[in-house]
Amino acid sequence: MTIEVLGVNKNFGDFVALHDINLSFGSGKLTALLGPSGGGKSTLLRIIAGLEEADTGTVSIEGVDATNLPARKRNVGFVFQHYAVFKHMSVAKNVAFGLEIRNKPKPEIRKRVHELLELVHLEQFAQRLPSQLSGGQRQRMALARALAVEPKVLLLDEPFGALDAQVRKELREWLRNLHDEVQVTTLFVTHDQQEALEVANEVVVINQGRIEQIGSPIDLYDSPANRFVMGFLGEVTTLGGDLIRPHDIVVRTSPAPGTAAGRIVRYQRVGFEVRLYVRPDGAVPEDGDVVITLTRTFADALGLELGTAVWLEPERGAKTVPAAARSQTEWLPAADRSGEGSAVAVGAVA
Ligand code: ATP
Repeated sequence: MTIEVLGVNKNFGDFVALHDINLSFGSGKLTALLGPSGGGKSTLLRIIAGLEEADTGTVSIEGVDATNLPARKRNVGFVFQHYAVFKHMSVAKNVAFGLEIRNKPKPEIRKRVHELLELVHLEQFAQRLPSQLSGGQRQRMALARALAVEPKVLLLDEPFGALDAQVRKELREWLRNLHDEVQVTTLFVTHDQQEALEVANEVVVINQGRIEQIGSPIDLYDSPANRFVMGFLGEVTTLGGDLIRPHDIVVRTSPAPGTAAGRIVRYQRVGFEVRLYVRPDGAVPEDGDVVITLTRTFADALGLELGTAVWLEPERGAKTVPAAARSQTEWLPAADRSGEGSAVAVGAVA
């Protein structure tokens, strides 16, 4: 394990920011810390980096107890959401900075900066000032700078948070490729499920200072441990008292045993998909409609339109969880899904 976090608790006054966090991150993996705003992701990252002190618990990096080591001695690279750059220095100088303060020989610095700028595709901008770069280019520069000192661990706090959707998307792909190339153990904080699912090998879902679930993107999407994870990782709707994904509902145009009868009250085209809002027979609008997504071709083949009577059932094997939990303990997971030390914790449900 490259990073091990054991029994970490952190309070700010009376506020519990992190509650008994136990995690281990494997070497060379790209892990996303995913959760809603205020859930404690950045606090955890900062504790690992040594920028924040935990109230209790330990952090070890590559088998060395780092709990009491200052940030600069932990051998971690850090990139924040808002570019922390030296505005008056060229891109090359920014990247070289960490090496210069370590008094590395000049030819070595020049060679390393060149390699890194090539890696992040900024060779042609070496002499520009950061203000002459786009937001995406500046984040790539920040990554090159963090990698310059060959950290054992790269910690990224919403590295693409301040960028527009298109650039974020490009940088996600770019980060994935970069990681494949350099294989440095990387943790990145995001509140964007798409980003976590697309980029990470493993995702840790954090909410209200607790770990809700740890797993691969597919595990989390297909086998969410609880309502919170199910709702946070994708769209959900309610059918017959269960939460279910809108694309996991079968629509029929004739009655069948075990199906729920209803009528299409809204028909919406969204790109290549159709979104149907079906009001179950006997329900009122306040009860909420069942939302179903299907392809346009399929909707056309069934002849669906506003007002059509339909019968609904969950797709065979579809993941469902009860829409209303009777108690927190209902969500106690049967087993640890991470397969790596720490248990999937019980969290507050949405
Ligand atoms: P975001 O995505 O919004 O950055 P996050 O999951 O990273 O959220 P944290 O920044 O870790 O959340 O914050 C967790 C909680 O701790 C928040 O409610 C925040 O207000 C609180 N908190 C963080 N730092 C401090 C501090 N120095 N003093 C008091 N409260 C703090």
